[in-house]
Amino acid sequence: MAYDTQNIFAKILRGEAEAYTVYENDDCLAFLDVMPQADGHTLVLPRSPAENLFELEDRHLAGLLRTVQHVARGVRKAFNPDGIKLMQFNGEAAGQTVFHLHVHIVPCYRDRPSRGHGRDMAQAEVLEQHAEKIRTALNQI
Ligand code: 5GP
Repeated sequence: MAYDTQNIFAKILRGEAEAYTVYENDDCLAFLDVMPQADGHTLVLPRSPAENLFELEDRHLAGLLRTVQHVARGVRKAFNPDGIKLMQFNGEAAGQTVFHLHVHIVPCYRDRPSRGHGRDMAQAEVLEQHAEKIRTALNQI
């Protein structure tokens, strides 16, 4: 399937749609998932227009993983979870719903199951507060 330039993450990357951005660099953009499985659920995307992991050029792989590690450190510092889960889906059958490669960073807690995948939209003010918490944590790393 050809990369769809009108997918929502492509629009966010072009600045045509809003996002609660927590971090960006030359390779990647990171913003909050609007239907978070836990507070602080963040998505990291390569800027390169790859639909899934298999389409990302080798030269962008290291930058993506480095950015995921950096942003996950910020999420950990901001929310102090018991653990952090990374997820990345390739293809509809695997659960992918937005067809621009992205890695989920989800805080996890021993006594609380995660919320459902892409289920409940969070409130804008709450997302903005959480994004600010992560930006502040990243500035301290
Ligand atoms: P996937 O199933 O493709 O791995 O995950 C896509 C994720 O994108 C879901 O967790 C869903 O909640 C999130 N999502 C869907 N639409 C939007 C949007 O417009 N903005 C943001 N920030 N996240 C979105």
